[in-house]
Amino acid sequence: MYCPACGREIKILSSIYEVPYFGKILLTTISCECGYKHSDSIITEIKEPRRYTIKIDGQNLFTKVIRSSSGTIRIPEIGVDIEPGPASQAFITNLEGILSRIEDIVKIARDWNSDDEEKVERCNLILERIDKTLKGESELTLILEDPFGNSAIISDDVFIEKMSENEAAQLKSGITVMELTGLSEDELGDLGAKKE
Ligand SMILES: [Zn+2]
Repeated sequence: MYCPACGREIKILSSIYEVPYFGKILLTTISCECGYKHSDSIITEIKEPRRYTIKIDGQNLFTKVIRSSSGTIRIPEIGVDIEPGPASQAFITNLEGILSRIEDIVKIARDWNSDDEEKVERCNLILERIDKTLKGESELTLILEDPFGNSAIISDDVFIEKMSENEAAQLKSGITVMELTGLSEDELGDLGAKKE
């Protein structure tokens, strides 16, 4: 395999982790001397288009979320969609982590549009709603869709649906073989994953 950035030959490192009550997760990491790095996660036991839906409240902020590079995250109440793109990276986080990522993005958007009162106001409303949800005074719905079943929310309270082929086809997959990131050993440890 060759580095997409510099063309040198590179190695792919893969490891399989067993996550309790969940199955096996395959992690692939590519790194090159030129600095190129990419990782991705593949959940080996699902392999079908899936949609996970959960209400985020103050009680479940530490619920784990695995988002593969093919996963789309939506929070309809605040009109947020995080779709896979060419630079899309996999990550393991929790619901709080997703809300704080969105906060960061919204704050940047607010700065960029600082002369547009309407947009600033909309950003402020989103930030306020996120803040209230983090404090347990409000709720938000998080929907995670993945056409390859490589993303997941790990909770007893999550609603899981199999998506139709049609629905899955509408999703941006953002996938290339090299779309592979930074799932650290620590993050896996947080998941309770054990390397095989
Ligand atoms: Zn390279």
